[in-house]
Amino acid sequence: MLVKLGGTPATKPKSPRPSSSATPRPNRPPAEHKPLPEGVVIFDNTRLGDFKSGPRTFYYKHIRNWVPEGEARAALTGGIAWSVAMDALWVEMCGGTNLPDVRLGDLGWDAFCQAWVGEGLEHPDTLDAEQYREFGAYSPNNYYEMLLHYVVARRDWLAQLELVGVELPVVVPLPGVEAPGKTVLYGARIDKVMREGEAFKWVDHKTTAKGLRGGAGFQPFWLDQWTPNSQADGYSYAIAEAYPGQAEGGLIDAALVHRESHDVFTLLPQYPQDAMLEAWKAQVSYWASLALDEMRLLEELRSSGKIYQSSYMPLFPCDGSKCAGWGSCPYRDICRSHPNPERLDAPPSGYVEEKWEPFSTVDHEQFGAAELQEAEDFRGGGK
Ligand code: SF4
Repeated sequence: MLVKLGGTPATKPKSPRPSSSATPRPNRPPAEHKPLPEGVVIFDNTRLGDFKSGPRTFYYKHIRNWVPEGEARAALTGGIAWSVAMDALWVEMCGGTNLPDVRLGDLGWDAFCQAWVGEGLEHPDTLDAEQYREFGAYSPNNYYEMLLHYVVARRDWLAQLELVGVELPVVVPLPGVEAPGKTVLYGARIDKVMREGEAFKWVDHKTTAKGLRGGAGFQPFWLDQWTPNSQADGYSYAIAEAYPGQAEGGLIDAALVHRESHDVFTLLPQYPQDAMLEAWKAQVSYWASLALDEMRLLEELRSSGKIYQSSYMPLFPCDGSKCAGWGSCPYRDICRSHPNPERLDAPPSGYVEEKWEPFSTVDHEQFGAAELQEAEDFRGGGK
């Protein structure tokens, strides 16, 4: 069995202002980062989801590393920044804190703004009223109000939790997935792992603007999508492997993003049975095997040079159902004019090269040589 949990230690950071309860981060040099060794392939929910929704999408995004230019959308950025704010709040609030609600709100807001700017958007403090309006429901001031309400809504519950870790990278083997010369793993980054009573659980923070009229709650179809859900089941599988007999699935910690309602939160428990997790593993292995087959064929056709002579690319086909319509595919412009994108040396106009690599530069101290050596052993049949 290979399961590794790394990530940020659940240590309270220094509060921006004096705090009687805050503990400074341990004083240690910056962790060494390094890419994954040659031959290690990690499928995560994004890669598998892209392959399932359209193999050609997978090819553009994960083989060629092409993404549409300027995709800094407010919804995406807000979700990322909310998640970073949650990190700051959970580290401070789990196990109890002496900070008053408004100071906790500031703590979350500082972290939110830092992440917002880090994603390439202007600092919320410098936006004018018109710019705020343009963000609609995803306006930063809505998130600020949400943070203040979140602190009040979650204070008592978080006080009784033990935070085990934040942003934990987890890798598990995918049995039955064969790829000569490659080590194939499933990977996930879990927002939080915590202990409630004796049980270890994962927590994933989600935001959505899909609310009922007037922000009176979440739309039922949005709530419904989490059971079953491949990402959530992957977390449950990983945590069950990491804490045998002590894990109890996890929770989606959902927050509604809305112009008027800022206090709509819910916890969605995810406690899949063992048989469901086995089914999840089989499905993930199936889709990973299909993706690997296409990748192997591509390598062969590239080596022989045949792929460059063909007028079209005979690999990674989509079924066409997601090309157009609501939420249409961002790769349509390439598909419309390049039947064989293998003939392109660089991304076409409107696209840039940007690798999706949540695991290739993870903290070496936490997910490094020793773990990957285990992966090698696993590939060699040693486990
Ligand atoms: S435009 Fe259609 S065929 Fe092309 S990548 Fe998107 S979904 Fe697939």
